[in-house]
Amino acid sequence: MSGVAPQKYLPYEYCRDIQEIIAGIDNTISGDTVLVAGGAGFLGSWMCETLLRLNANVICLDNLVSGKIENIQHHLNYPNFTFLQHDITDPISLHAPIKHIFHFASRAGPLEFKKHPIEILRSNTLGTLNLLDLARKHNATMLFTSTSEIYGDAKEIPTPETYYGHVNPVGPRSCYDEGKRCGEAMCMAYAVQYDVDVRIARIFNTYGPRIRADGIYGRVIPRFITQALLGESITVFGDGSQTRSFCYLNDMLIGLFRLATASDLRGEVVNLGGGTEITILDLATAIITMTKSDSYIQFLPLPEDDPKRRRPDIQKAQKLLRWEPKVGLARGLERTIHYFQQDHDEQN
Ligand code: UDP
Repeated sequence: MSGVAPQKYLPYEYCRDIQEIIAGIDNTISGDTVLVAGGAGFLGSWMCETLLRLNANVICLDNLVSGKIENIQHHLNYPNFTFLQHDITDPISLHAPIKHIFHFASRAGPLEFKKHPIEILRSNTLGTLNLLDLARKHNATMLFTSTSEIYGDAKEIPTPETYYGHVNPVGPRSCYDEGKRCGEAMCMAYAVQYDVDVRIARIFNTYGPRIRADGIYGRVIPRFITQALLGESITVFGDGSQTRSFCYLNDMLIGLFRLATASDLRGEVVNLGGGTEITILDLATAIITMTKSDSYIQFLPLPEDDPKRRRPDIQKAQKLLRWEPKVGLARGLERTIHYFQQDHDEQN
């Protein structure tokens, strides 16, 4: 069955995406113990899969409020995989000698900011603090997954890591923007005061199989695909002229892995993301065409503080990690549509 399109619950050996991710990674962590906080979520579960494929011992922490057990259920009986249902805002102590920590644990969808702002702030502040304490105790590296959101509605495009941001600290997105900014500051404080080996990835819009589509809380790509498959109207906010630069999960996983595990990257902050910058209206049209949908476009009000343009400057990632996105939007969308098509077919 190898070589087939990505399947949701198949073991990683059979998954084309994981094979491509592994092909993009050239160092090994065989036998190391790695903690993945938020390991049942979209990117976290793919990271667990990648690490298992590399023969690491994986401890996956997740409170399952937005992550799903289905994303990791095929690993649950593996001897080198441990799942702990745990909220990182509660302190944790582990006995196994942890070499690397990946912190993915946070809700991330803009439509969740209204419903769960305190939870989002707690995961990125208190949760980050607890994981940094663990990193300190184990002398582990700590990769914090930050976000392009810390730049707010950036005035410098493409946006380099040196840009300080243009953020509304009390606006509807501030729980996420400021939560991540505080998380970054905590990482740097632990680096300065306790010499913890922290690395910060500023992740730009990423998509692919397992990204959540649930109802009104999904991100734009899963929302548009679901709407198109169901023949519902495609909800474009504003006039659709705002842009995003979408990155497929394989590219993102490779970048994250390299940043977390390469030697001599202590304290580095790196943008990861990009590919082609596209308007949301063009994205809607592309998805309608690719799904052969009868859906029409419905224009709805633009949410407050919605960034107008988003595009990373990835020169630092190119230099430090020899990384740039390889999967084009058409190929990435095709695989993501296939993933959602399976769900759609199962329900009909
Ligand atoms: N968007 C949209 N319709 C939707 C959901 C999102 O037009 O149903 C727009 C949203 O306003 C934003 C872009 O798509 O400009 C990306 O939104 P997403 O929620 O994926 O994440 P963001 O980049 O805002 O963090």
